[in-house]
Amino acid sequence: MRLTFQPLACIACDLCEVACSLRRDGVVTPMSSSIILHSEDKANYFGLVLKSRSEGVVLVRPEGVVSGQESSGGSGGPGAKPILLREPCDLCDGDPMCVRACPVRCISVED
Ligand code: SF4
Ligand code: SF4
Repeated sequence: MRLTFQPLACIACDLCEVACSLRRDGVVTPMSSSIILHSEDKANYFGLVLKSRSEGVVLVRPEGVVSGQESSGGSGGPGAKPILLREPCDLCDGDPMCVRACPVRCISVED
């Protein structure tokens, strides 16, 4: 089982990151989620960064999805813990909260 993405569907609402954080810690914090919204100064340029167990850091950008990245790939903003220092995605023990939270089905589960 793994998460898959449709990058161009994302509307940058950040609900996936919030859902992951709530499930892990019971609070919304920029420290623990395994998935983060990443944005850059460029207008309307944003994507996601996932720390996965099987594929390393996965970058979800408008250009496409790239896995196995060694770089930090984004920190989730000032004061946030870098993605490499966080716990990897455990797929919520089979019921991914980020998939449930996403309003536009950008994130899906694949067996
Ligand atoms: S599947 Fe669960 S642990 Fe993995 S990124 Fe989504 S909410 Fe976080
Ligand atoms: S919940 Fe969906 S639309 Fe919102 S930031 Fe996450 S992937 Fe993008």
